[in-house]
Amino acid sequence: MTGTRWLAEYAWLPDRAEPTADVLIEAEDGRITAVTPLTGAGTPTAGVEVLGDATRLPGLTLPGLANAHSHAFHRALRGRTHGGRGDFWTWRNVMYDVAARLDPDSYLALARAAYAEMALAGITCVGEFHYLHHGPDGTPYADPNAMGAALVEAATQAGIRLTLLDTCYLTATVDGEPLTGPQRRFGDGDALRWADRASALADTVERTGGTGRAGETRRVLVGAAVHSVRAVPAEQLATVAGWADRRGAPLHVHLSEQPAENDACRAAHGRTPARLLADHGVLGPGTVAVHATHPTSADVTLLGDTGTGVCLCPTTERDLADGIGPARRLAEAGVALSLGSDSHAVIDLFEEARAVELDERLRTRQRGHFAPAELLAAATVAGHAALGWGDAGRLSVGNRADLVTVRLDSARTAGVPPVGAFFAATAADVTHVVVDGRTVVADGRHLTVDVPAELRHAIQEVTS
Ligand SMILES: [Zn+2]
Repeated sequence: MTGTRWLAEYAWLPDRAEPTADVLIEAEDGRITAVTPLTGAGTPTAGVEVLGDATRLPGLTLPGLANAHSHAFHRALRGRTHGGRGDFWTWRNVMYDVAARLDPDSYLALARAAYAEMALAGITCVGEFHYLHHGPDGTPYADPNAMGAALVEAATQAGIRLTLLDTCYLTATVDGEPLTGPQRRFGDGDALRWADRASALADTVERTGGTGRAGETRRVLVGAAVHSVRAVPAEQLATVAGWADRRGAPLHVHLSEQPAENDACRAAHGRTPARLLADHGVLGPGTVAVHATHPTSADVTLLGDTGTGVCLCPTTERDLADGIGPARRLAEAGVALSLGSDSHAVIDLFEEARAVELDERLRTRQRGHFAPAELLAAATVAGHAALGWGDAGRLSVGNRADLVTVRLDSARTAGVPPVGAFFAATAADVTHVVVDGRTVVADGRHLTVDVPAELRHAIQEVTS
C-alpha cells in the first residue's frame, strides 16, 4: 500500500481538550506516519489549499470509534420488541427466537450487514461477544467453529476490525441448571471443551494472520468471554481466565446488568458477582466487565483496584430497562470506561457517549460530569484497548490509520463548535471512514455493501 495524505479541516489530536484546525495526516501501510497541524489556527484557513494531492476531509476528523460490545444478531430485533410491557427477561425470550433460526450462512449475511452499518457509523473495530456456537439442538457443526468463522468473514467483508470474544456459556442459572431449548446451542459442555474449541478458532485466525487474506495487516483477534456468573459455574471460571491469560487475549464478562443476577449470586455463593469473579481470577487489567449497572460500592472499588475496565452500553441499558450504571463513580475509582451498542437498538457511538454524561445528569440533577475529551476517549482509545488493540484510537504516529470524519454542516451539526460534536452529531453525520489506511466509507456510503438492502434481506430471512 502506498502512502496517503488527508487534510482534515479539524482533527481531534491526543490529549487535547478540543479539536485542532488544518491538520495534515499521513499514513503508509495502514499506519499513521505523520500528524502535522499546519497553521496552529483555531479556525481553518484558506492557505492550505495548495496541498492538492491530499484528500480533503471537511468537518471534524476523529480516531476510529470502537464498539466494545456487540451481539450482531440482535440487530434483527430492532423495533420488534416494543409491543407490550415486560423487562430484560421477556425481551430475552424474543431474542432466543431469532437465535434459534440462525445458521452459518444467515449469520454471515446478518453480521456483515450489521458490521457494515457500524462502519457507516464510524466504528472501525467491533468486539463481538459470541455464544451462538453450535447447531440449534446443541450438536456441533462439521466445523465446530463454523459460526465464529462466519463472523470473521462478516467483519472482513464489511471492512472493520474484529475482536471475536469466544464466549463460555455452560449453565442457565447461577445454581447450575442445565441449558435447555434455544440455549442448548450456546454450550460446550464444560470449560475445558470450550477452551479446546476456542483454541482451535484462535489458532486458525493466527495462521491466516487474522485476515483470512494473505499479506494483509492483522485485522482479527480472538479473545475470551465468560457469559456471566449465571452461565459459568464458579469452579470453572479460572479455566476461562487462564486461557485468556496464557494467550494474552482480552477477557470480557457481563456483570450485574440486573439486580436479579446479584440476588441469585448472593444466594448461591454468599457474595456479589464481582467478588465471585475476583475470587476466581477473572478480574484484572486484561478484563472488561460489560454493563456493571448494579455494582455495590465495594464492587466499584474492586473493579478499580484490579484494573478491570467497564464497557457501558447506555442505549441498550435504557432499551431493556436495566437502570443507570454509576459511570462517574467507576471513573473515579480508576476504571477505564469503554462503550458498546450491545443489542443494536441503536448503532451510534455518539449517542452512547453523550448518554454517559446525560444519564449522570438525570440521576444527580447536576450537569458537567464528563469533559468532551473523556467521552472521546471512551469511544476511541479506551474501546480499542478493551478489545486488545493497543495501537489504535489515537491520531498519532505509529497508530493504525483509522479516521472518522463527521460533517459539521448538516441540519444537526451546522453552527456547532467542533468540541461540541459529541452532543450534536449522530451516526448519520459520518461521511468518511478509513480503517487501517483503507477507505471503507466515502460521502456517507459504504463502498462495498448496500447496507439498507442487506439489512432488510438478512433480517427478513431470520424473522419471517
Ligand atoms: Zn451483551
